[in-house]
Amino acid sequence: MVDAYIGLGSNLADPLSQLAGALARLAALPRTHLVAQSPFYASRPVGPQDQPDFVNGAVHLQTELAPLELLDALQSIEQAHQRERIQRWGPRTLDLDLLIYGTQTINNDRLTVPHVELVNRDFVLQPLLDLSPNLQLPDGRRVADLRQQCVDNGLRRLHPVPGSLASSGGDD
Ligand code: AMP
Repeated sequence: MVDAYIGLGSNLADPLSQLAGALARLAALPRTHLVAQSPFYASRPVGPQDQPDFVNGAVHLQTELAPLELLDALQSIEQAHQRERIQRWGPRTLDLDLLIYGTQTINNDRLTVPHVELVNRDFVLQPLLDLSPNLQLPDGRRVADLRQQCVDNGLRRLHPVPGSLASSGGDD
């Protein structure tokens, strides 16, 4: 079993329910155990600003799927959520990224792991930190340190109410 971390994001078509649906599908993946999910955060979009805020989170999986098998599974889930790719960095129903796969560094046509933008994005680093405060990248950098160094983009923690997926929308 390998510890893998997946980033989730959505800013269309009721993002909280998109993420809830994605969590259910991730929990049902073969040869995979969903260990924990992070809180969800609202974040301002990267790139074009004339689109809704994103809701982001991350999950910790333990999996026997190989990296590309896991990527295939993530892309199937994205397709099931009818993701539309109209514009680079534009709005999206569901975005799933393979952030970290054990201690492996992967660079091939389809996959860069750790995810190439991970270190620059508070909406990725903060959920990772919530899941695993001592997490390190394969090169030894600590997620906690990267989070401190990262430019803050106005991340706002959401408080989904179990069962209803409603959010208070309040800050901590
Ligand atoms: P995106 O716009 O982030 O959804 O990019 C999707 C593309 O990124 C796909 O063609 C993937 O093959 C590629 N990709 C490279 N590295 C990763 C990764 N770590 N997680 C998810 N997709 C990745």
